[in-house]
Amino acid sequence: MYFNSEGQEEVSYDAIVIGSGISGGWAAKELTEKGLKTLVLERGRMVKHGEYPTANMDDWELPNRNKMTLEEMKDYPVQGRTGYTINPAHIHWWPKDTEHPYTETKPFDWIRAYHVGGRSLLWGRQSYRLSPMDFEANLKEGIAVDWPVRYSDIAPWYDYVETFIGVSGQNEGLPQLPDGKFLPPMEYNCLEKDAKAKIESKFPERKITMGRTAHITQEGGYNGRGTCLTRNRCMRGCPFGAYFSSNASTLPAAEATGNLRIRPHSIVTEIIFDDATQKAKGVRILDGETKESKEYFAKVIFMCASTLGTTQILLNSTSERFPDGFGNDSGELGHNLMDHHFRLGANGRSDDFKDQYYKGRRPTGIYVPRFQNLDAKTKRPNYIRGFGYQGGASREGWGRYIAEANYGKGLKDAISQPGNWSMGLMAFGECLPYHENKVTLEKDKKDMYGLPTLNMDAEWKTNEYEMRKEMMSAAAEMLEAAGLKDVKTYDSGCNPGLGIHEMGTARMGLDPKTSVLNKWNQMHAAKNVFVTDGSFMTSAGCQNPSLTYMAFTARAVNYAVEELNKGNL
Ligand SMILES: Cc1cc2nc3c(=O)[nH]c(=O)nc-3n(C[C@H](O)[C@H](O)[C@H](O)COP(=O)(O)OP(=O)(O)OC[C@H]3O[C@@H](n4cnc5c(N)ncnc54)[C@H](O)[C@@H]3O)c2cc1C
Ligand code: SF4
Repeated sequence: MYFNSEGQEEVSYDAIVIGSGISGGWAAKELTEKGLKTLVLERGRMVKHGEYPTANMDDWELPNRNKMTLEEMKDYPVQGRTGYTINPAHIHWWPKDTEHPYTETKPFDWIRAYHVGGRSLLWGRQSYRLSPMDFEANLKEGIAVDWPVRYSDIAPWYDYVETFIGVSGQNEGLPQLPDGKFLPPMEYNCLEKDAKAKIESKFPERKITMGRTAHITQEGGYNGRGTCLTRNRCMRGCPFGAYFSSNASTLPAAEATGNLRIRPHSIVTEIIFDDATQKAKGVRILDGETKESKEYFAKVIFMCASTLGTTQILLNSTSERFPDGFGNDSGELGHNLMDHHFRLGANGRSDDFKDQYYKGRRPTGIYVPRFQNLDAKTKRPNYIRGFGYQGGASREGWGRYIAEANYGKGLKDAISQPGNWSMGLMAFGECLPYHENKVTLEKDKKDMYGLPTLNMDAEWKTNEYEMRKEMMSAAAEMLEAAGLKDVKTYDSGCNPGLGIHEMGTARMGLDPKTSVLNKWNQMHAAKNVFVTDGSFMTSAGCQNPSLTYMAFTARAVNYAVEELNKGNL
């Protein structure tokens, strides 16, 4: 993937992209396709599409039947908190917490991935648009600052991104969850179909739709990527490229232009400010292998190192002009940290449909779009904004007999029959942008490279806690309406960060005094620096956010290249 791998290393480029995950892959594709010689600096190792060592392994081929030992888990005290990511099938994707420390004034679960492709290889692929009301809510409610962008500004870019990555889903005509350019949705199973009909008839304002998921469900197009075989092993990497990742989709497209160079093992430590031009002139990196410090130069820089990665670099880039971090005239850099709060809802069991099963292992679930605080009729007295549910129905597997410690013929006979149907709904709620929820740099606490580490200081507040009450009760009332038995609510609790939708620490806004970026993801204070990972988000919505990062990245590149061509950058 090097266009100049021979001879002396080139250090000057048209564009530099920091990070190669979901947003960095998009920046690289758009910049290179527009003819810019682009250097992607990625702190982790190279992973080429197809280099997914566990993709076709079964549990019995993995160490300890795909379980970590207690000794091994000692390296993952934070990332282990998810309960589903740290196991031998996926362990090569996650950096050790012990090697990448940070401090927690309040508990914060930082779930990250350091390799080419970043978390695009590991994400859940749920892809939902923000709605017009999401972009207007801050202004209407007097929360934080207004988004400088409206839905109509970004809608064409959602179209553009969905068409390229492939998103399966159903158009529903809902104002709170705009329709998109979808491939055929995945199928409901019999219990979900039955529950959908009953719930929608009892609660007309609540809709159940199939999860909108970045999977190819129809042959053809997509640059040779394959169709999803519904085997639900996506987090191991998909050999067919059937779900969207940078590795399978945007980076190969960028490479095909001949304009891309990816430099792995390149930890960007600082953005270099040029006093003469009042712009950035390049970046400084630490080579993760040789520990050498190097500088690279470009006309335009795209920061896509993930919300906290980008914030860390910006806070560490101090100069006479920016004593508190690059572009931080507003003092908002590192503040307004958001995530989605989740891990609560309800489950129930069904005695029906015992003669029915489903085909394959569908790699998505059903989705219940937000139905609270949409209008006067759905207004809630105790909280603003709202939540959606992800969920689904399935038949219990053989694991149900573990508790009974059964063995021998009895066990074999029992597990040859599928178990009961059960169904669950888990809520994802919006968190407000609180100035005091923040990350700061600990200048005296260094990591193994000698770089300052982050301190996390964020918490849920009254609005989130009030919302959580209804997140449980509404799930239970819907499952009951669907005729499920033994419906039980649960709240497993979650720290900020565990939603893995961290965002907001370099927000967009109209006023440079109160925001870091303008409406083009461009730094108010340094016009050739663009931040297009989740740091730019001015509010969170309750929808999974990565589709929005992709759409804003494509839009920002389009603007940046226009400005470059006009000689404005
Ligand atoms: C298990 C899981 C499930 C998820 N499910 C969903 C979902 O269903 N829907 C959804 O919308 N989102 C989901 N997400 C979140 C999604 O993965 C992120 O929102 C998305 O990847 C963010 O994109 P990004 O480009 O900002 O960061 P990343 O994809 O994390 O990429 C950042 C890249 O920058 C690199 N980097 C960091 N620091 C530096 C540095 N100093 N120098 C150079 N490179 C650096 C990293 O190594 C990494 O490769 C999920 C995440 C996980 C882990
Ligand atoms: S479920 Fe589909 S996208 Fe996921 S790994 Fe299997 S084929 Fe690939």
